[in-house]
Amino acid sequence: QVIYLNGEYVSKENAKISVFDHGFLYGDGIFEGIRIYNGNIFKCKEHLDRLYDSAKSIMLDIPLSYTEMEQALIETIRRNEFRDGYIRLVVSRGPGNLGLDPTRCPKAWVIIIVEQLAIYSEEAYRDGLVSVSVVQRRNIPDALNPKIKSLNYLNNILVKIQANLAGVGEAIMLNAQGYVAEGSSDNIFIIKKGVVYTPPCYIGALEGITRAAIMELCDKLGYKLKEEPFTLHDVYVADEVFFTGTAAEVIAVREVDGRQIGAGKAGTITTHLLEEFRKIVDVDGVK
Ligand code: PLP
Repeated sequence: QVIYLNGEYVSKENAKISVFDHGFLYGDGIFEGIRIYNGNIFKCKEHLDRLYDSAKSIMLDIPLSYTEMEQALIETIRRNEFRDGYIRLVVSRGPGNLGLDPTRCPKAWVIIIVEQLAIYSEEAYRDGLVSVSVVQRRNIPDALNPKIKSLNYLNNILVKIQANLAGVGEAIMLNAQGYVAEGSSDNIFIIKKGVVYTPPCYIGALEGITRAAIMELCDKLGYKLKEEPFTLHDVYVADEVFFTGTAAEVIAVREVDGRQIGAGKAGTITTHLLEEFRKIVDVDGVK
């Protein structure tokens, strides 16, 4: 496995960062999770746009231009000889001193890791996941804006711990007002009477790239879509529920907090959206 580390291609064993790195000390940095399908970087532009927007928002200077970053991604994939997999792109504030002042960090560090992906089984896509809601609340825009894909994932990790304790694959996070926000690392959709709903991002959700792709597909396939706040009650009584994410793609939910969703398996619209999503993944990317 070859890892891109600040302009160099190094082995996994030699890919090391400083203990003074502010990404490590403070979670001061940003990241992207990107898919490679059939040798293509899926939605490369969208991921890089989100990365550079996150960087601007936290005043982080990425030491590579947009084109250089794209080239670094392509070269890392080439050196790993991957056709399908997952890219983790991390930009940390870089090494500084022990104080949290980012101006003490002269140069941001760029790390690109390419790996195989352990995704859900085909059975899970057909049968749907069991999910639970958790007590952790998603931060809302006047705190750390959820549009920033920062290295501060402790809240999401607490959600994942709750999911593990409940023995489920993904959990549902609400915002401070009790509206459904998203999962630990996925956006959420529900379907009621043929209408597809997803929370607007101001509720407290990442502007997911898979979410956007599904919204586009709904439009193309003629499903009515509403970006509207909803509550757990709406989830419990929905005909279909599914999560979307770079790793998860489109995964149905068959049960939430002990309530069966619809017929208790992946619903027809969810299945249709997953099928159509899989048709676009290897054509809609950068070679
Ligand atoms: N929400 C959170 C908190 C995430 O970390 C992710 C994964 O990146 C998502 C949603 C899904 O976003 P995307 O479809 O861009 O992977």
